[in-house]
Amino acid sequence: MTWRIAFAGAQHETNTFAPNLAGVQEFLMADSWPRLLQGQEVAHETHGMNLPIAGALAEAQVRGDILCHPLLWCAAEPSGPVTDDAFDMIGDIILAELEAAGPVDALYLDLHGAMVTQSFPDGEGALLERLRAELGPDLPIGVSLDLHANLSARLIELADCITIYRTYPHLDMAATGARCLRRLVQVLEGEVFHPAFRQAPFLVPLHAQATGMAPCDALYRALEDCDSVGSYVDMALGFTAADIADCGPAVLAYANTPELASSLAESALARLCQAEPLFQTQLVDARSAVAKAQTMSGHGPVILADVQDNPGAGGASDTTGLLHAFIEVNAEAILGVLCDPEAAQQAHAAGLGQDLYMSLGAGSGTCDDPPLHADFKVLQLSDGQVPYSGEMYGGGIASLGPSALLHVVGTQVRVVVSSVRVQGLDRALFTHFGIEPLDIPLVGVKSTAHFRADFEPGARGVICVEASGVFPCRLDASRYRCLRPGMRMGPLGPIFGQNV
Ligand SMILES: [Zn+2]
Repeated sequence: MTWRIAFAGAQHETNTFAPNLAGVQEFLMADSWPRLLQGQEVAHETHGMNLPIAGALAEAQVRGDILCHPLLWCAAEPSGPVTDDAFDMIGDIILAELEAAGPVDALYLDLHGAMVTQSFPDGEGALLERLRAELGPDLPIGVSLDLHANLSARLIELADCITIYRTYPHLDMAATGARCLRRLVQVLEGEVFHPAFRQAPFLVPLHAQATGMAPCDALYRALEDCDSVGSYVDMALGFTAADIADCGPAVLAYANTPELASSLAESALARLCQAEPLFQTQLVDARSAVAKAQTMSGHGPVILADVQDNPGAGGASDTTGLLHAFIEVNAEAILGVLCDPEAAQQAHAAGLGQDLYMSLGAGSGTCDDPPLHADFKVLQLSDGQVPYSGEMYGGGIASLGPSALLHVVGTQVRVVVSSVRVQGLDRALFTHFGIEPLDIPLVGVKSTAHFRADFEPGARGVICVEASGVFPCRLDASRYRCLRPGMRMGPLGPIFGQNV
């Protein structure tokens, strides 16, 4: 028996507090991930990458009993909501490519799970609804989601099986796509998976969600212990910068009977709730973080994570709090990747080895930070096509646009400057410019947790820095309007609805 399966993907993690929208252009262009791909391009251009759709397609190849119909893959760097135009485009392309492909037995979708559009707080649910309206209720649909999904009952109702990443940093994206495909084939073979879904009553800040540390390490190990042929449990920890009713962690169990699914979901929820106090993780202001880092002994750098200006969570990647803190004490430090297209352009115009006086950072105006006015020396220039070398994105290419390595003259501080927002999660974003970050005492990265995969093993310590940015990690109930009543703002935090 050969199954005809269609493959499509469209990823966006939406920060509803960020001002910039994700329009058609943002989905068409390359950034941390490839440009929009259609038809056979999807298979060719994602081959070998740690992407869910690449893992699902590779699994299909290995099985040999699946005829693959790749339709679409696209993503935009996290930002404010997806425009209605871009959302419509995604559905239009999937349906047009499906029609061109002819009849299929099932559809696999590589989605994020935290997409908010101008019209829909539950972007993925709305997309599934549109596809179901065209394809009918019976076509098996399998969906893989990001660990930061804000799971909704509607999405679960419209899909036949869902799998969710189990690592943060997301080292298992391709594996999660492959896992989804295997469950989807089980559905095609007649397996019935009853879902059970439970939402937790507290938000977890993202810097506390890393799965290499407590309590997530144990929570995710427990999910693997639940895997069996007829049942499994997954867990999304939620994306806190989405002011929507479904924001927050949730568990999702599937089993052959509704009773077993419920019992598995209840147990997973109990484990998650029991771990609530363990999610309390410190944030340190930029000056104190730099001072603390300079006293830490050991080998390798201290990584200072500028967690609230992470472009991978919708940040502008151009705030200057940590940069100013480095300069104030003349620390031997490097910061990356700071997005400032004007500064990058001026560096290219000045030329390699030249000095120039200019303003750096804070161009987006999303925060109150002042830009850095200083003399800079242009140490390196690049077109910004950077092959990733770390485990998470290895095999892919970052598209930074015109970019440069700058030295702040009169200090020991250097900065990697880009024209496109790209999360500083891979050492290649520094080594491409001739700098091995593990040789620099203090390394500032605009990343919340993904940097840990490539930087932490060689570092003498990590500090999560609380500087300006549109991705709040210190959760504040007064910012939200649409959460579920009673939600706690972080582990054992204040309750939403009591002070707004
Ligand atoms: Zn994620």
